[in-house]
Amino acid sequence: MNARATNPLDFFQVRELLSDEERLVQDTVARFVDARAIPLMRECFEQHRFPKELIPEIAELGLLGPSIEGYGCAGMNAISSGLICQELERGDSGLRSFASVQSSLVMFPIHHFGSEAQREKYLPRMARGELIGCFGLTEAQGGSDPGAMRTRAVRRGDEWILNGSKMWITNGNIAGVCVCWAMTDEGIRGFLVDTDTPGFKAQEIENKFSLRASITSALFFDDVRVPDSQRLPGAAGLKGPLSCLTQARYGIAWGAVGAAQACLAEVLEYTGERVMFGRPLGGTQMIQVRLADMARRITSAQLLALQLGKLKDRGVMDPAQVSLAKWNNCRMALDIARDCRDMLGGAGISAEHGAIRHMLNLESVITYEGTETVHQLAVGRALTGLNAF
Ligand code: FAD
Repeated sequence: MNARATNPLDFFQVRELLSDEERLVQDTVARFVDARAIPLMRECFEQHRFPKELIPEIAELGLLGPSIEGYGCAGMNAISSGLICQELERGDSGLRSFASVQSSLVMFPIHHFGSEAQREKYLPRMARGELIGCFGLTEAQGGSDPGAMRTRAVRRGDEWILNGSKMWITNGNIAGVCVCWAMTDEGIRGFLVDTDTPGFKAQEIENKFSLRASITSALFFDDVRVPDSQRLPGAAGLKGPLSCLTQARYGIAWGAVGAAQACLAEVLEYTGERVMFGRPLGGTQMIQVRLADMARRITSAQLLALQLGKLKDRGVMDPAQVSLAKWNNCRMALDIARDCRDMLGGAGISAEHGAIRHMLNLESVITYEGTETVHQLAVGRALTGLNAF
């Protein structure tokens, strides 16, 4: 028997590059995910149910709006926020999606574009997990081109009247507030719509084969009236929602690493024990080449995410860099999950193993927050200066 890597999931000891505080954050979230989330996720996925019961603990750990200073938020750096996503997604992409939407797509715009009164009204309750948010940008006619949205907000005196619908909205049916992006005479604006406002309706999308442990909804706005004080004063144009997406995509780049690590851990154990033709599967050249390729791709993705975090903490992260990382890391994780599913053989199609759940989830993760093609075109535009969308 030859020596094995100390930690096959961190082949290049990327953890050594983290500060003590970042390591503490990672370990704390990892313990929560191992003890509380992983035992639930299989059942939740099978039952098409989001584990709402975990929200108070997620909030207690400071994982909601973690990078916001004040308002009851933890004020962590970008790398710690990334590690939170990595560990949550090691459990399930649905768990990370919940936290990403709450933190990056709802708390971030309220903090970044909102008035002081809006921050005070929403952020402390959202940090405590008492109020959940959703982000309504995508519409049925096409998410890749959000500028073509049909949802409209018309001003009547001190009020806005919203009409339209949104599709594929994470957390929609458990949200108390929706950040709704709508077209106005002055271009796209963002509105904080309390979901008990008359004319608002959320309808859960059933029968998904992916992200089954996450709530996805269609939203309907039928003459929904909101006062001008519910408009995000600092957001004008498509830049508003796109800057939120940059935050969330950053988290996905880290999260995908966690999903891939979960699959690799499972398949290493399985191929180490399963004996085929008189030796463990893991002792065959073909399986080792595939495992080595996974370690190579996970390592590259980890280093990419870490450098992206360093750029973000320095305030110089470019959206095209986020596109490259989101594209690379989602593709890496999806390919690894599929390959792990295959190496588990017939057992790989059973919910007994996590690979197929991660694989199915990652089909959403590679699609939402900009499809793979959209990110490739964003990188292409940054390289050439030419817009090919
Ligand atoms: P389309 O935009 O119709 O794309 C279809 C295909 O065309 C894709 O392969 C795409 O890559 C390709 N394509 C598009 N443009 C081009 C081009 N110029 N050249 C070549 N190919 C192109 N949205 C929200 O607003 N809030 C949420 O919380 C949210 N959560 C989601 C949760 C889930 C589970 C899912 C599946 C989606 C969620 N979305 C959410 C929506 C998501 O962001 C969109 O699905 C995504 O942006 C793609 O849009 P689409 O589904 O309309 O596909």
